[in-house]
This record gives sequence, structure tokens and C-alpha cells, in this order.
Amino acid sequence: MNRIIIILLIIVVIFAAMAMAVFIYMPEENNDAKIEVQNVAVENTINEVENVTENNTNMVETNANEERISPNAFITFKQTYKKCGHTTSEFVEVPQEFVNLSENELKERYTDWTVEKFTDTDIILSKEVEGDCNEHYVVRDVDGTVTVFHILDDGTEEKYMITDIATEYLTDTDKIEMGKGIEINGKQNLNQLIEDYE
Ligand SMILES: [Zn+2]
Repeated sequence: MNRIIIILLIIVVIFAAMAMAVFIYMPEENNDAKIEVQNVAVENTINEVENVTENNTNMVETNANEERISPNAFITFKQTYKKCGHTTSEFVEVPQEFVNLSENELKERYTDWTVEKFTDTDIILSKEVEGDCNEHYVVRDVDGTVTVFHILDDGTEEKYMITDIATEYLTDTDKIEMGKGIEINGKQNLNQLIEDYE
């Protein structure tokens, strides 16, 4: 009988010990589980942040790529002439072959031009070219009439336009200046000068 009681006691003690062991270990396991859950949560947050960052980057790239030349755009071609240093500008409706190009595509196709400005409706392209601008003029008095000469690349003068303005009606200052010849650059400036005399 005693032996049975002792065996039973031993079994009870072992069982109790096992129960204790489980009880002691349980919180640790719970902690591990909590830490794991936290780690997963942190990883998820990191992933989310990465995704958001990636999306933002994609959006910026997409936007940069998406700005394309509108069919309503205007393009300014600016050419600076190495010989005289003058710049001429031509402001035109967008040529058909430019429509829908992105800035990078435009740069790739027209490598000799520099893209100074790029929006969907307003583009400025510039380049340097040899020679002079071919818009150098001199205004002289020829037989009492205001006459315009085109100064050629080699410096010679070619009759360009005979106006219907008689020099006798100009101011004394204008008459003196015209006697020396008034040099003027650019068609617009020339037209302005002639308008002022009329
Ligand atoms: Zn020039």
C-alpha cells in the first residue's frame, strides 16, 4: 500500500512539476508571440512606407514623362549668330511632328537645339549658328528719299527698300544722322524706325 501511495505521490509531484513548468514557460511563449506580432506589424509598416514612397516616386516620374506637347502649343526658335552675336526669334504654331513629344523625346530628336523651356503649350528652343543674322541695315538719303540698304555678310551694301518718305520733312537731327547713314539691326527695329519717320 505504502509503495502505491509513494508512486502516486511521485506521479502527482511530476505532474505538478510539469504543470509548473508549463505555467512558467507560457508567459515567455506569449512574450515571444507578442514580439513576433510586433515585428510583423513593424515590417508591415515598413513595407507600407516603402510602397507609399515607391508610389510617390512613380507618380513624379509618370508626371515628368506625361507632360507632352499639346497640339495648341507655340514654339519659339531662337538662333544666336556667332559672327554678330545677334539673336533672332521665330514664334510659330507647333509643327505637327512635335505634337505629343515629351521633353526627353524632343531632346533626342532635335539634338542640335537646346530646350530652354518646356511646358505642354510653350516651348523655347535655341541654338548657336555660324555667320551673321542677315538683318543688318543702313538707312540713307538717296536723292531726297529715305532709302534702306541691306548690309551683306562681306560688308557690301545692297539696295533693299526705297520708301515714299521725303527726307526734307525730317527733323534736322534726323537729316544729319541720315547723312552719315543710320545703321540698324533687325527687321522689327527697321520697321519701327520707318514708322517713326512717316
Ligand atoms: Zn546681326
